[in-house]
Amino acid sequence: MEIKNVTILGAGVLGSQIAWQSAFYGFRVTVYDIDDKALEAAEKKHQEYASYFKAKRNASDEAIQNTFARLSYTLNLEEAVKDADITSESVPEVLDIKKDFYRKLADAAPEKTIFTTNSSLMVPSQYAAETGRPEKFLAMHFANPIWDANIAEIMGHPGTDKNIFDEVVTFSKAIGMVPIPLFKEQSGYVINTLLSPLLAAAGNLFFNGVADYKTIDKTWIISTGAKSGPFGIMDLVGMQTMYHVMMLKAKQMNDAEAMKRAEAIKTNFIDKGKMGISSGEGFYKYPNPEYQSPDFLK
Ligand code: NAD
Repeated sequence: MEIKNVTILGAGVLGSQIAWQSAFYGFRVTVYDIDDKALEAAEKKHQEYASYFKAKRNASDEAIQNTFARLSYTLNLEEAVKDADITSESVPEVLDIKKDFYRKLADAAPEKTIFTTNSSLMVPSQYAAETGRPEKFLAMHFANPIWDANIAEIMGHPGTDKNIFDEVVTFSKAIGMVPIPLFKEQSGYVINTLLSPLLAAAGNLFFNGVADYKTIDKTWIISTGAKSGPFGIMDLVGMQTMYHVMMLKAKQMNDAEAMKRAEAIKTNFIDKGKMGISSGEGFYKYPNPEYQSPDFLK
């Protein structure tokens, strides 16, 4: 099947990016959200992305105009999916919300539609049954911002049709992503499976008073040739997400240390408006963080 029509389900941080990127690459995109304020915010973000694409990614005025012409927004789920060849779902990371949402989507969408989820921590088999079409359901997971960190981790569950998997791999390339196919389900995919232990280990060194955060980052940058160290990465991920991850760990594992760290992130960063790169400050100040200066590595 040739994919032409894409529907974005959930127009928050990630959904609005996937919508813009897909429309920029020539697909007709319908953006759906349950909340009219979220749709308005997504439209506003699309104006910002347009300026960014012109300034930083050499996008022509014509390409931007065509992108806007391919985008539409709706609060009506039936309307949103009536012509959809593929959907990309970015509703909140809460199992009951996802399950409930997929039950509604299963009724609303035509039989041909492929469903993909952008869930970060859950795996598709946790709600494949609710989709009513498990063979046409899998994960296509993006990183933030999707045009710079342009991987799309493609992960099926045991009931996903191999041909559908391949179609989604092809689609991800067509919207400018580098596909990362996974052979089996893995919570955290490839990137977060690698990143989580690194960030946790960096947190241990820091909170246990073994070394300061700049020294830890310096060690990593010099010895691996990476562009930033774990604390620079935390700034990129953002303090809100770091806080959520810590709270989840604290609650799920009854982990008092994780709770202490979550509270430290809240008090020292979030309450002070230091959200990471997005707000201009986290551990470091942006746009010119100290770790990018040659002196940092001396
Ligand atoms: P977000 O809170 O910014 O957006 C969620 C959107 O879903 C909101 O606009 C909300 O109004 C809408 N929504 C809530 N219930 C809905 C429903 N029943 N039907 C339709 N829309 C509904 O969240 P986000 O950061 O974009 O994350 C969404 C998903 O994407 C999560 O599964 C998350 O794990 C995943 N994800 C996020 C990131 C990231 O960096 N933020 C990266 C990769 C994947």
